[in-house]
Amino acid sequence: MIITDTHTHLYSEAFNEDRNEMIGKAIKLGVSRFFIPAIDSTYTQSMLQLKEDFPEQVYLMMGLHPTHVKENYADELKHVEHMLTQHQFYAVGETGIDLYWDKSTLGIQKKAFKHQIQLAKKHKLPIVIHCRDAFDDIFDVLEGEKDDSLFGIFHCFTGTLEQAQQAISYNMKLGIGGVITFKNGKIDQFINQIDLKHIVMETDAPYLAPVPYRGKRNESAYIVNVLEKLSSIYNRPVEDIAEITTQNSKDVFKV
Ligand SMILES: [Zn+2]
Repeated sequence: MIITDTHTHLYSEAFNEDRNEMIGKAIKLGVSRFFIPAIDSTYTQSMLQLKEDFPEQVYLMMGLHPTHVKENYADELKHVEHMLTQHQFYAVGETGIDLYWDKSTLGIQKKAFKHQIQLAKKHKLPIVIHCRDAFDDIFDVLEGEKDDSLFGIFHCFTGTLEQAQQAISYNMKLGIGGVITFKNGKIDQFINQIDLKHIVMETDAPYLAPVPYRGKRNESAYIVNVLEKLSSIYNRPVEDIAEITTQNSKDVFKV
């Protein structure tokens, strides 16, 4: 069984003490494909190191996280642009809009999001979207960019059924993680109305650990708890869920 974690920050400081053991533990459980979203230029070196340490399992993305869109965002975008010409990346991300932490940067967050979508199109890559309290603004940007070259993943999808359908209409898969195991997570109520071909799995480690680890540090190995939850919601064996979601990740990332 091959399980794909489409969104995991394995380079995070949270793993400095036990990174290799933590990754080894996941690999033992069958989690053998890790897609690594970028945050900003301060993490680029540790991402490249991770790829060097796990060349068979790790696939990097390049981008600027919406909560890291600050006064220097133009320089950060130049870094993203430059890196895309220097190394192989499998997506532009994570990008998007986050209005939970800071509404004052909405203007530049939108600009940075749009710019990264255009970079992704130029390099024929998917985009990986981070959306927090910002569905309307995100859909607004996507509506303007909608065409055959727009595709990707709505990471950590936590919206309504209607929002899920709208995201899918822009050629997006839905990244499902720990929130599906939460009692108040809501998406478990309707996700079975979404065809499995639109679903990919993720942890967003070290954040958003699934039950029974909720509130603790998340790890890629805990994707098994997400897998089991999806298996019970869709009433399909875990092997099927792993296979379908891994195939979906291959369709998006082309690897
Ligand atoms: Zn993330």
